[in-house]
Amino acid sequence: MDNEQNKIPQATAKRLPLYYRFIKNLQASGKKRVSSAELSEAVKVDSATIRRDFSYFGALGKKGYGYNVNYLLSFFSETLDQDELTKVSLIGVGNLGTAFLHYNFTKNNNTKIEMAFDIQADKVGTEIGGVPIYHLDELEDRLEQEGITVAILTVPAQVAQIIADRLVNKGVKGILNFTPARIHAPEDIRIHHIDLSVELQSLIYFLKHYPLSGQNA
Ligand code: ATP
Repeated sequence: MDNEQNKIPQATAKRLPLYYRFIKNLQASGKKRVSSAELSEAVKVDSATIRRDFSYFGALGKKGYGYNVNYLLSFFSETLDQDELTKVSLIGVGNLGTAFLHYNFTKNNNTKIEMAFDIQADKVGTEIGGVPIYHLDELEDRLEQEGITVAILTVPAQVAQIIADRLVNKGVKGILNFTPARIHAPEDIRIHHIDLSVELQSLIYFLKHYPLSGQNA
């Protein structure tokens, strides 16, 4: 990320991939412009927030015209470094890990799981979705060879911290943690926690206790 992007608030930056995906689809369908109301409906972000977000990019929509799709797309591609491939590693090829290897983020052309690690003999040495699975003993060497700085953790919770420590020691800067364990790392390491069962429970809780009244309540 360069200095220019540091000026974009974090909350805005987090929404960029969402906007990018939608606008890419719009362009593919031949659309030339989009209003903040249309965007709002599609990405479920209120239109005032969208207008504010877009003003940070210098994209100024015109009343009754909307935003130019090509302009937005070229801005997003550049900002999100779409041309630069980020190689990612995955540790723990269980049910969830296996699903990610099959999925492999093919809708994003700038991220790819390059290698996976596990300790089970029947998995090591095989490939899933074209991604080779190595033994965890090879973690440090392989990460270094490929210069990988992003990792997805889908191991059992009790080994998450110890593996995270090894990743950080080898220069990994970002970890997407799918285990329920809260991982501790130095301040300059970014860890995003995604606990799918908590997310699901929270959705169900909200459905029960905070039913939505209108369209966008
Ligand atoms: P999931 O939680 O993804 O559904 P699962 O229930 O199939 O997975 P888990 O016990 O959660 O299995 O283990 C996930 C994967 O992590 C398994 O493939 C397991 O072999 C692997 N694993 C366990 N310990 C380690 C470790 N220390 N390092 C790397 N991989 C490990």
